[in-house]
Amino acid sequence: MNNDFKYIVIGAGIAGLHIGALLSQNGKVLILEKAKNIGGRARVVDIGGFKLDYGPHPVKFGSKSALGISLNEIGKPVDFIKPGGSWAFLENGKKTLFPTGGIMAVIKSDLVPTIKTLKFMIKVIKMKQNDFKQLYDLSLVEWFNRENIHPKLQRFLIMASSSMQVNPFPERSSAGELLHNIHRVLKKGSVFYPKRGWNSIFNSFSEKIHENKGEIRLDSEVKEIIVESSKVVGVKIDNEIIRADKIISTIPVQHLFTILDDKLCEKKFVEKCKNLRPTTGISIDFCLSKPISNLKGIIFFENPYAFGFIPSNLSPEVAPQGHSLMSFFTATDLDDIRNKDKMKEIHRNLRDAILQFFPNIENYLLHERPLFSEMVDGVEINIEQHQLKRPGNKIKNIKNLYITGDSVGGEGAGGDVGHESVRNTYKLIKDEEFVL
Ligand SMILES: Cc1cc2nc3c(=O)[nH]c(=O)nc-3n(C[C@H](O)[C@H](O)[C@H](O)COP(=O)(O)OP(=O)(O)OC[C@H]3O[C@@H](n4cnc5c(N)ncnc54)[C@H](O)[C@@H]3O)c2cc1C
Repeated sequence: MNNDFKYIVIGAGIAGLHIGALLSQNGKVLILEKAKNIGGRARVVDIGGFKLDYGPHPVKFGSKSALGISLNEIGKPVDFIKPGGSWAFLENGKKTLFPTGGIMAVIKSDLVPTIKTLKFMIKVIKMKQNDFKQLYDLSLVEWFNRENIHPKLQRFLIMASSSMQVNPFPERSSAGELLHNIHRVLKKGSVFYPKRGWNSIFNSFSEKIHENKGEIRLDSEVKEIIVESSKVVGVKIDNEIIRADKIISTIPVQHLFTILDDKLCEKKFVEKCKNLRPTTGISIDFCLSKPISNLKGIIFFENPYAFGFIPSNLSPEVAPQGHSLMSFFTATDLDDIRNKDKMKEIHRNLRDAILQFFPNIENYLLHERPLFSEMVDGVEINIEQHQLKRPGNKIKNIKNLYITGDSVGGEGAGGDVGHESVRNTYKLIKDEEFVL
C-alpha cells in the first residue's frame, strides 16, 4: 500500500520545521503539532507590536551554524546580525568588556588576567577532538584544580559555562564540553541574532515545506507511534491512523514514552531517556516606550550568573518604531525552579541585578514578561550526559523511527545540539535511502 506521506515529523518546534524542510526535498512531509502554534520552546509572541522571542534567543555561529547551513542549503537564507562588543556587569557594580571579541577584548577587559587568558585561548584553539573527549567526564571544578587555573579566569569560565552551556554549576559542568565549545567560538565566531527575530527562521522553513507540497497540521497531538513487526508504520491522532514510510520524533526524549511503548526498547535506553536532566531557567523581557541604552552586545551578569541583550538594538523590526525590547536570562537548578519560594527569590535577584545597571527600565516600562522554564534545553551539558553519553538518532530494534532535537547526542550546547542533531539525522536518513 502506498502511504500518503513519505515522512511524518512529530512536533513543529525548530527541530521539526528544520528537519521537515530538509526532508521535503526528498518526499512528501507531514508535520504534526499538538499546540495551536508553531515554534515550541522558541515560539514568538506578539505583544502590542513587540515580537517577543521565547526569552533571549541568539543563535550561536549565525550563518555558520548547522541551522544557518540548512537555511542556505534550502535556498532560504536568513540575515544574521553580529552583536557589538560584549560587557560584563560585576557584583561590585562595575562594568568591563567581556572577552569574547578576540585579543583586543582580552587586553582591554578587567575581568581576566591578560597573559594567562591569551595563553589559555591559544591552547584551546590548538586542541583536537581527542583532547576534548578526554575531558568530557571531568567537571570544571576538577579541571580548575588539576590545571591550577587563576581565580579570575575561573570566574570568566563559569560565566561562559552559564551562558554557553546554560550550566552555572562548575561542580557538574563538563570541562571537555566547555573547552570544545570555546574552541568552536574561537574558530567560528560567537552568537548572532536573526534579522526580525526567530519568526524569520520559522518562515523560511515553513515556506520550503509548503513549496514542496508538505503539510503542517496544528492542534494535532500524536497519541501513539505505531510499530508493527519491529518497524514503524504510522501514528495515531485521536481515532485516525496516518501512515508514512519514516517517522521522526522531535519531542524531547524524556517524553518519548508517552507515545511509544517502552517495552519495544531496551530498558537501559528507556531509563537514560527518561532521566535526562534538562536545563532550566528564568527569563525576563521588558517592552519599553523608548530605548534606554544603545548597547549592541551581549550583557553578562556576575550575580546571579545571567546574560541578556537588547534585540531591538540589533533588529529594530522586533519593536514598534522608537520603542525598545530588552531580554535577560538566568539558568537555575531543576530543583530550584520546582520550588515556588526559591523561584521567586531567583527572579527577584535577576530583576534587581538588571535594574542596578538599567534603572530607567521602570520609567519607560509598558509590559514585562517573566518566564519560568522547566525545560530550556532538552539536556544539561554535564559530566553525566555529555555528547557521547546521550541517546543517538536511532532506536535499536525499531526500523524507520528517528529521534532528533536538543535532547539527543550532537555537538555544542543548548539550541546548537538541536540543530546539529537535525543535520545528523537528515544525513542518516539520506544515506540509508541512498543505499536502498
Ligand atoms: C527561555 C529560553 C531561552 C532559550 N535561549 C536560547 C538561545 O538563546 N539560543 C538557542 O539556540 N536556544 C535557546 N533556547 C533553547 C531552544 O529554544 C530549544 O533548544 C529549541 O526551541 C528546542 O526545539 P525542539 O524543536 O527540539 O523542541 P520543542 O521546541 O520542544 O518542540 C517540540 C514540539 O513538539 C510538540 N509536541 C510535543 N508532544 C507532541 C505530540 N505528542 N504530538 C505532536 N506534537 C507534540 C511540542 O508542542 C513542541 O512544539 C532557549 C529556550 C528557552 C525556553
